[in-house]
Amino acid sequence: MAKKIWLDDKLVNPEDAMVSVFDHGLLYGDGVFEGIRVYDARIFEFKEHMDRLYESAKVIRLEIGLSIEELSDAVTKTVKANEIIDGYIRLIVTRGVGDLGLNPFLCKKAGIIIIADSIQLYPKELYEKGLKVVSSSTMRNHPLALPPQVKSLNYLNNILAKIEAIDSGAGETIMYNHMGYVAEASGDNVFIIKDGVIFTPPVSAGGLDGITRRAVIKLARKENFQVVEQNLTRVDLYTCDEFFLTGTAAEVISIVEIDGRTIADGKPGKITELLRKKFFEYARS
Ligand code: PMP
Repeated sequence: MAKKIWLDDKLVNPEDAMVSVFDHGLLYGDGVFEGIRVYDARIFEFKEHMDRLYESAKVIRLEIGLSIEELSDAVTKTVKANEIIDGYIRLIVTRGVGDLGLNPFLCKKAGIIIIADSIQLYPKELYEKGLKVVSSSTMRNHPLALPPQVKSLNYLNNILAKIEAIDSGAGETIMYNHMGYVAEASGDNVFIIKDGVIFTPPVSAGGLDGITRRAVIKLARKENFQVVEQNLTRVDLYTCDEFFLTGTAAEVISIVEIDGRTIADGKPGKITELLRKKFFEYARS
């Protein structure tokens, strides 16, 4: 369990880390966040995460009230106070305390919460054997509704999809956009490999611009693989040679079955395994 939590402007004991019932983050899911990994006591892709947080805040017109440097400093202090060597940071910015109405501008000051702790999303065995997924009947948010590029505190769209995965005994679920193209998983980005070429949906298909996705694309290109960002259909997923997901919490995980269709021989693919290895080398470099 975390030793100290950053709350607004200081570190407090976990039992003292309380938020108001009038915080719009709680009342309306009004806020933004980041999930960030720490490898070997270093914060992975720190700048990318901070930039994305500030971009998400800009889209929803949330004034964080601190510069990127000031907030980054608070994150670093929280990691140190919790003596995290390998772990996970949850950085949350809420709209802050307001009244019961929707008006976000009545909230005087953004709320800041930083939790630094350990994380294990899936058991080790699933990384070795691969994960089973199902297609979700819940459409990913339309970009003209709540743009999936905004990493907001409103995850109900993803939670509804996740419930479908849990109900069918799968580890994750694939979400499609309003056109029927693959958007992303409920908490990860999607990649497939066909005839040695790596494919991933463009961010415009309605997924988060994942930091792990960006790193994997760069690493794959460095290994001379062709990486193509293009719209993918359900059939593309059913008939690919390899399939994997990327995300800060999940890292790189193979998918071996989707909707009852086995991917290739049902074992994690060789290129995926290579990229997974390269990812950890990079994360710890
Ligand atoms: N899509 C969604 C909906 C997510 O919540 C996440 C983060 N868990 C991702 C994709 C992966 O993004 P990242 O690699 O930046 O963690």
